[in-house]
Amino acid sequence: EKLYPDINPQKDISFRLTEAVDLIRMENELRTALDEQQFKLVYQPIIDLETQSITGFEALIRWQSPKRGFVRPDEFIPLAESTSLIVPIGQWVIQTGLEALTKIQKRVNHPVSMSFNIASRQIEEPNFLEFLLDCAEKYRLDYQQVKLEILERTLFDSERAIAWVQQCHALGFPLVLDDFGTGYSSLQYLNEYNLNTLKIDKSFVQGMNVESNNKSCSICQAIVNLSKTLGMTVVAEGIETDEHLQALKSFGCTYGQGYFFSRPVPLEEAIALFEDPRFS
Ligand code: C2E
Ligand code: CA
Ligand code: CA
Ligand code: CA
Repeated sequence: EKLYPDINPQKDISFRLTEAVDLIRMENELRTALDEQQFKLVYQPIIDLETQSITGFEALIRWQSPKRGFVRPDEFIPLAESTSLIVPIGQWVIQTGLEALTKIQKRVNHPVSMSFNIASRQIEEPNFLEFLLDCAEKYRLDYQQVKLEILERTLFDSERAIAWVQQCHALGFPLVLDDFGTGYSSLQYLNEYNLNTLKIDKSFVQGMNVESNNKSCSICQAIVNLSKTLGMTVVAEGIETDEHLQALKSFGCTYGQGYFFSRPVPLEEAIALFEDPRFS
């Protein structure tokens, strides 16, 4: 009798080899992608739910590969992180996103923010904050307008995380805890770290069934209440329907983003959103 009936060792190994070879190929392609300008940034508006106005944007990277076509960030960011390519890519993201912010700011009278996703590997990089400061200075931006989104696990991944968070706080860059509730979910760090914002993960927002007032509703409500108790702001991501929106508003959630308002869009479209009567 076979001990492991479902595993065919030969097939399994060759599968893993193909996968490994493809990862090496992709790594090489990522190395040239920056030089060949295959990346671009798109911007998704973050909405003040009470006034329905745009308060800022989240910058999201896109890779148009000549060989693979469009590659989702979920497919290449982890590889970029494990190979440290995330460091130059991340610098490009910040540089490009802040330049975009100055262009947005020229057309809009009230302050608008730009949020960036920061990987653990970037935090370990000693020059990261210096680079960020240089960019913010170059474009004469108020640091309050430059928000850094990190994952819960990043606070545990990196030895430097505590010092880094304190430095960001001291400098005045707001910190957002992304995908809140899906990571380690230790409430200890909310006590220890100076974090400004909790971002409710889209799985909770989209899991809400308002009629049955299910667990996802309770979780969203609990995160909103927690953020208020701790004096933090709260953003709900992945709002796709008016039902999601109304439920979150009834819980007292102050900010939101999602396809209901807008998909992530190129800079010109992002600027045009300010003319959209829905967000005036
Ligand atoms: P994230 O930071 O959680 O970003 C939110 C993701 O949800 C984005 O996917 C966004 O396009 C998508 N989204 C927004 N609204 C909705 C909605 O209403 N419904 C649904 N189903 N999805 C929505 P995207 O752009 O594919 O990015 C995926 C992840 O890749 C991001 O998750 C982030 O972790 C990472 N990422 C993207 N850009 C960067 C970057 O510049 N640097 C780093 N380190 N990571 C990045
Ligand atoms: Ca994010
Ligand atoms: Ca998120
Ligand atoms: Ca996510």
